[in-house]
Amino acid sequence: MKQKTLNKIISELEGKYNSKDKPSKSGILDTLIATKLSQNTTDKTSYIAYNNLKNKYKTWDALANAPLNEIKKQIKVCGMADTKSKDIKNMLNRMKKNYGTLNLDFLKKYKTEKVYDELLEYKGIGVKTVSCVLAFSMGREVFPVDTHIHRILNRLGIVKTKFPEETFDKSANIIPGKKKFSFHRNLIKFGREICKANRPLCGLCNLYDYCEFNGKENFYNTKAAKKGNNFLILDNI
Ligand code: SF4
Repeated sequence: MKQKTLNKIISELEGKYNSKDKPSKSGILDTLIATKLSQNTTDKTSYIAYNNLKNKYKTWDALANAPLNEIKKQIKVCGMADTKSKDIKNMLNRMKKNYGTLNLDFLKKYKTEKVYDELLEYKGIGVKTVSCVLAFSMGREVFPVDTHIHRILNRLGIVKTKFPEETFDKSANIIPGKKKFSFHRNLIKFGREICKANRPLCGLCNLYDYCEFNGKENFYNTKAAKKGNNFLILDNI
């Protein structure tokens, strides 16, 4: 796809979602835990789980020392509570051991690649989660890719890839640096509202003319539009 076309797509979505270009810069550990909670669930349920933790424990130190069963109870609402509670508790305790503190502000001095190396050491923390931390709490020009963004970029023809990991590598060089953050957020909203996984609402799509998806004509009359779920946990912590 030509850069000019990509730029038009980016600005179409900016217009549609009235996006902001800059992240809110929430705390690094807050973002890490919120993103971990949001794995394989909706932002709404993970936000409830996140708030339960914040209300129950005054500090992340208190959470690190809490009994596993109690943590599990607080985050049950967002699913996979067994794994998530274990991963979060173990991660916090390992961080305390490694850094002597749960203040991760020192990471701000690290280059982006070093932040990946550091945080990927922790069980249950993957590239997408670290990318969210970099983009949302450190203001780095990183473009997190999940299965939804992977699907939309391929339908539009921005990349031609088989796996999200490949899309992540390719998009890093294609999406303009300053637009990475807002484009990521807008694609998430667009995927929830219009370019859905199973029945995309192509007849309502403002990117229809740019889109290279072969099946778009077949979905042109699918108009089961509902109010989109545009709540993003990382905008609200
Ligand atoms: S035309 Fe359909 S498949 Fe293409 S981007 Fe729009 S909703 Fe997605």
